[in-house]
Order: sequence, then C-alpha cells, then structure tokens
Amino acid sequence: MHTLLQADNELEVPDRPPSLALTVERTASALQDALSPALASLSATPQWADWRWQMRNRIRSLSQLKSFFPQLEPATDLFDALQTFQMAISPYYAALIQRLDTTDPIFSMSVPRAQELQNPAFLNADPLEEDHDMPVPGLVHRYHDRALLVATSACAMYCRHCTRKRLTCAKETTISTSRLTQVTDYLRAHPEIRDVIISGGDPLTLPTPTLEAILAAVRSVPSVDIIRIGTRVPVTLPMRITDELVAMLRQFHPLWINTHFNHPCELTTEASAACARLVDAGLPLGNQTVLLKGINDDPRVMETLCRGLVKRRVRPYYLFQCDLVPGVEHFRTPITRGIEIMEYLRGRLSGLAIPTFVVDAPGGGGKIPILPNYIVSMSPTHTVLRNFEGMLISYPEPSQNTAAPRPAPAHPAPAVKGVWALTNGSSTKLVPSDTARIRRRTRKPVGAPVADVALT
Ligand code: SF4
Repeated sequence: MHTLLQADNELEVPDRPPSLALTVERTASALQDALSPALASLSATPQWADWRWQMRNRIRSLSQLKSFFPQLEPATDLFDALQTFQMAISPYYAALIQRLDTTDPIFSMSVPRAQELQNPAFLNADPLEEDHDMPVPGLVHRYHDRALLVATSACAMYCRHCTRKRLTCAKETTISTSRLTQVTDYLRAHPEIRDVIISGGDPLTLPTPTLEAILAAVRSVPSVDIIRIGTRVPVTLPMRITDELVAMLRQFHPLWINTHFNHPCELTTEASAACARLVDAGLPLGNQTVLLKGINDDPRVMETLCRGLVKRRVRPYYLFQCDLVPGVEHFRTPITRGIEIMEYLRGRLSGLAIPTFVVDAPGGGGKIPILPNYIVSMSPTHTVLRNFEGMLISYPEPSQNTAAPRPAPAHPAPAVKGVWALTNGSSTKLVPSDTARIRRRTRKPVGAPVADVALT
C-alpha cells in the first residue's frame, strides 16, 4: 500500500509470473521463429500477406489448433468451452504464440480455457445493457451526442475477453441495407448525434466496398460531425490495412480510429506498419486496452505498452476495467489494481501516454473514470493536493471566494503542522525529501540520509 508520506516514491511492484516480466516487443522475425513450424513456413508464403486468406484460414477448431501446435495438450473440458464461446484465430496472430500455456499473453487472449465456463450469477451477456439502448436494430444510442453502430459480428480473432460475446459468438453477419437505412433515418431524426462509432465485431473485417457503403451512408447525414471506427484489426490482422483500404477511408474525414492493443508483444513490425499507414493518411489513432489478469495487470507491462503506442503515434485512450460478462470472470482484476497502475504511470510517463482508467458501469451507466485520489483535504480557502511523489501542496483558492477568511491562529503554530497547516494556508507544501527529483535538486547521493518530509 502506498502511503502519502512514503519516503521512497518507488512503488513496490509485487512479483508476477515470468510472462509478465517486461516483455520485448515482437518483431517480424518472431514469425520466422514461430513456435509452430507450420505457421513459420506459411508466414514465408505470398498468401500470408493476403488478409482474405488470413480470414478464410482462421483457426476455428481444436483439431486445426492441434495441427499447428501438435504439442498442445488441451484440458478435457476445453471442448465444452469451445462449444459455448467460439474460437477464431488468424494464422498471423497464432504465429505470435511463444508458449502453449497461460503464461503467454497471445495464447491467453486467443485460446479458450475451461474457466470460461465458471461464471458467478451476477454476470450478464449484455452487461452494458446495449440492447436496451437500441432504438433501431444495430444502433446503440446511450450518450446524448454519440451513437454506436454495430456493423458486423465477425472478427479476425475472437478475443477471449470480449464484452460482446453475445454477438461474436453468434453467426457471422453484416448489417443489411434495409437496417442501414433505418439507422440513417434515425440519425437524421436525431441531429443531436454528432459522433457515430462504427463497431461490431470488427468493421475492418468487412470487404472494402461494404464498409465504404456504410461510411457513405453515415457521412450522408449532415448533422454527423465525426465518425469513429473501433477495430482490433491492426493487432490481429495487420495485413488488412492495405493502401486500397486507406485510400477509401480517407474520403470520410474527419474519421478517427480506435484500436485495441493489450500487451507490448502485440506491437510487432507488421502491427506498427499498419498503424503508420493509417496515421500517415491523417487518421488519428487511439487505443483502448482492457485490463486483464495475468496479461497486462502489471504496472511495468502497462508502461511498456503505453510507451510503445505513443512511439507509433497511437494515443493511449482508455484502460477498461473488465466488464461483467460470462466467460471473462478469470480475467477480472480488482479495481484497486487499475488504480495501482494509474498511480505508477503518473509522473513516469507524459500525460500523452497515460490512458483514462474507466469502469463501464453495469446496467448501462456509461463510462466512469477512476483515478487515484489526488485531493488530500479541502477548506474554503485552500485545497491540499498531492503529486505522484507524495508531495503535498496547498493550492490557495481565489481571493473572491465567498467563504469568510479564517482569523490568524492565536497561538504559534506547533512544530509539526501536518496537512492542517496546508488547509489554512500557513504552510504551502509538505515535501517527501527522499525522492529521485529532490535528490537531483539537492545533489544528495542515493543512500545519503535525508529527512522523510519537509514542511515549508
Ligand atoms: S475484436 Fe473486439 S469485438 Fe472482436 S472479439 Fe475482440 S474485443 Fe470482441
């Protein structure tokens, strides 16, 4: 537990399994060195770069998985999990597997496991109640100025942690022309909707002309300012980001793209090139990460991921607490883990690289941002804030504040004044002395004795 006046600002990071030690970003050579010799040799063929071939050849059954990974020894009840929540893994994504167990993040995110069938009763197939906020089929209207269009139920890879398993575990379908007309009619009748998110499933798995027709329909509504696409394709099927696709997308600006990287090992050479093609076409990229137990619930893994994303011009946007959906319970972390990660990131990374940690509230309550507490105390005249180091700062409120000013204390201030001295303005800050920044300032070598705090 981090205490406010902790002398050492280095948070203790509990030991994690070896998979969660800082993981190097995988590169194209990882494909040549793939665990599966069959996938490694396929990755050297021309068809590998064809996204349609990748979609057609997704791994859908246990026998296909075994054919690529003969050494895999699936648990006996894995088949039941597979019957309940379908599997699809693009050969590209499967080739990134380095270990055939749950210490491998790629394996964990793509291969079913028996725990998917162990679900407490409070889980819900539609935890965000999207179906209740669907005025016309395929369009979720929850927030006043935004709507989400479900364009398809297909994905290049069915993430084991998916919130929309109720869709992605059904038959693969695409929105019909008549439903698209219903959607655009609704958008025209509701000019308050300024922002439409095209999601799914994964819209970038659609043929380019189909996606173009959907974008053109939405863009034909004059009140829609921006369109966003939510996609995991740059991660799971990066060869889909072709010049032809990018040329089509750029007709519909302002168009934003949110992708979904969860772990640094997904930042391969191919994924980086896909992001670069999109950004070079003027498509701003954001990233939504889901906090997943045993995969990225380590502050150092998240730091590496966020640094890797901004290096590729992808802005970390949201860090999502796992939703309360069946099949995902084994991935859920306590909310405190997310707060711990946010505490770790602040001060280490630029604000540009820090996502907003949110809980998407069960019952359709929408996204609730969760932060460590940076307000320590408040009075009518001063608010006491703390920074990432544990330094406490008194922020004077505006002099026009309606509260009557406090009279000066009748007695001299005690030797140790604490936070109260900051709330009444008789001190301005309470500084932990033994932080890297203070040592740099005072030129004290590491190990030299320092006081825990200084009150000034
Ligand atoms: S790509 Fe998105 S919609 Fe598809 S399975 Fe993964 S999380 Fe779900």
